[in-house]
Amino acid sequence: MEKENPFDLSGKVALITGASSGLGKHFAKTLSSNGAKTILAARRVEKMEKLQSELKNDSFIVNLDVTSKESVNSLKGEIENTIGQLDIVINNAGISDPVRFKDISEDSWLSILETNLNGAFRIAKMATDIMLKNKDGGSIINIASILAERVGLNLASYASAKAALVQLTKSMALELARSNIRVNALAPGYILTEINQDFFDTEEGQGYISKIPMKRLGLESELDGALLLLASDASSFMTGSVITVDGGHVINPL
Ligand code: NDP
Repeated sequence: MEKENPFDLSGKVALITGASSGLGKHFAKTLSSNGAKTILAARRVEKMEKLQSELKNDSFIVNLDVTSKESVNSLKGEIENTIGQLDIVINNAGISDPVRFKDISEDSWLSILETNLNGAFRIAKMATDIMLKNKDGGSIINIASILAERVGLNLASYASAKAALVQLTKSMALELARSNIRVNALAPGYILTEINQDFFDTEEGQGYISKIPMKRLGLESELDGALLLLASDASSFMTGSVITVDGGHVINPL
């Protein structure tokens, strides 16, 4: 039966990686308050316990390290054996290590790719296995960045990983469309979160903001429209898309 509100997520189960802080924590709240049961996954379990107490709907906490095959496998087991269902995946866990290209160490390069690209691949593959087995389709949302499209100083590894994540999104979308597994990306611009506030208050941070056509940072809540669209049946004919939410940052004139 078609839902009256196509954005309604009741009856759906959503996995959010990196749910212990920042955007992931916010995404979990948004999905939960729109009806989804949530699986909160990250390494800092105590932070997710606090989040869990604030959520409107049922939630599960899983200690997850996306860089570990074993950890992702154990999450898979938990979903298959305890939860049984997976409809939405927010592939959000990510890190950055800003450094000039000439100073990037191989370890730093590998660690950014390991979390932001290989980790996202592992989660997407695990989710695909479950969704194919369950035959109910699903929606996978990869959290990319405007740095997948444009470049910025000190972020060669991050931009490279996010650009690859967008290509992974499109490749998966192409192959999984027939199984009704939709794969899209959300590409935020600069969004104010608990950990970047101090930086954006500095003179350097203000310099970054001055390049955004809307002359301000985005708020976490301003990602909700795109997130709910991609997560819900409202986007039932969308796959392989990248939705940019950035106050016009990528259309800044050259
Ligand atoms: P935060 O640092 O606040 O959050 C990152 C999250 O990722 C944390 O919850 C952390 O949890 C989790 N994480 C990191 N490494 C791992 C790992 N190995 N295994 C599991 N979880 C991990 O950053 P943001 O909220 O700002 O970023 C979230 C996503 O949004 C990232 O992918 C980022 O690239 C993207 N993004 C953010 C923008 C912004 O302006 N804030 C703009 C564009 C994109 P824990 O440490 O507990 O494991």
